[in-house]
Amino acid sequence: MEAPPDFYHSILEQLDEGVYFVDTERRITFWNGGAERISGYAADTVVGTKCSDNLLMHVDESGTSLCLEGCPLAATMLDAQCRRAQVFLHHRQGHRVPVEVRATPLKDHHGNIIGGIETFTDNSTKIAAIEHIRELESVAFIDELTGIANRRYTQTTLEARFAESSRYDWDFGVIMADVDHFKNFNDQHGHDVGDKVLQMVARTFSANLRPFDLVGRWGGEEFVLILPNVSEQDLGKIGESMRALIENCSLTVGSKVLKVTISAGAAVVLPDDRPDGLMKRADELLYKSKEAGRNRVSVTPAGGGRLVTSVSSPLGGRADGA
Ligand code: GH3
Ligand code: MG
Ligand code: MG
Repeated sequence: MEAPPDFYHSILEQLDEGVYFVDTERRITFWNGGAERISGYAADTVVGTKCSDNLLMHVDESGTSLCLEGCPLAATMLDAQCRRAQVFLHHRQGHRVPVEVRATPLKDHHGNIIGGIETFTDNSTKIAAIEHIRELESVAFIDELTGIANRRYTQTTLEARFAESSRYDWDFGVIMADVDHFKNFNDQHGHDVGDKVLQMVARTFSANLRPFDLVGRWGGEEFVLILPNVSEQDLGKIGESMRALIENCSLTVGSKVLKVTISAGAAVVLPDDRPDGLMKRADELLYKSKEAGRNRVSVTPAGGGRLVTSVSSPLGGRADGA
């Protein structure tokens, strides 16, 4: 097993990942710049030595040495199966570096194993990066006013539900809800009071849905609920229950008791559906609820666009706080 030809050699040298080749005796034949950077060992120190000479001294989480027994690369060269493992390598300066290693068999034209390739990435930076991403996520994915998921996170969740639904055939539905006559409400009671209403609506949804349902602010006075594992009938009931709860919320400002209502459109995922198609159906149903007088929920059957549920309210759709 020889070092790669020049062309591949220069590509491999430029990778951030550590890459090394071994022959069937586990003698290191190639060691790239990434491996040098992560381990602190230069190629001229390492090439020609056996990785089982315990230079890198990979250990697992419990501190057990993997070089003599349990070496992923050795196992891969025996059964030709690729492997991944989280191990800790020995840095030239003495400390342990967490790395994710991937072992791949190297075969000749006849399919005979002639060596192995190990690539490894430094997890210490990855772990720090994950922490950093988490921090950013909390800022980037939460709606500041209401504390619920923002539109971006709602969209990401929707895509995740779609991926699950096509893979496992799990049903889910969305409800798009919009506060009725909210412009009038703001005009009458002020924007700050309007903000409190949006918080009240968001809290009502969050407190009354299941822990795995997602409540997101789609924008302005529009909310999206993503509800896994629901039939159309369930969706209609949940939508109706949310509508009734909001109708029965009230905000006391001075001597006034203020109320709002919502209109909603509820749609379940269909075979071969797409996120924008599902959202469009929910939006169209929401529009039907508005047209039909507000303070109601419209649901379609899975087969098509016919309106089957329309719930009208005793308040008749007024939401001006009067
Ligand atoms: P409809 O029943 O047809 O939905 O009427 P609407 O008045 O609710 O709809 P419209 O789209 O005309 O107005 C939406 C209003 O929502 C206008 C805007 O001032 C208000 N709004 C959007 N975002 C916020 C917000 O963050 N805070 C407050 N207080 N008001 C907001
Ligand atoms: Mg509105
Ligand atoms: Mg709106």
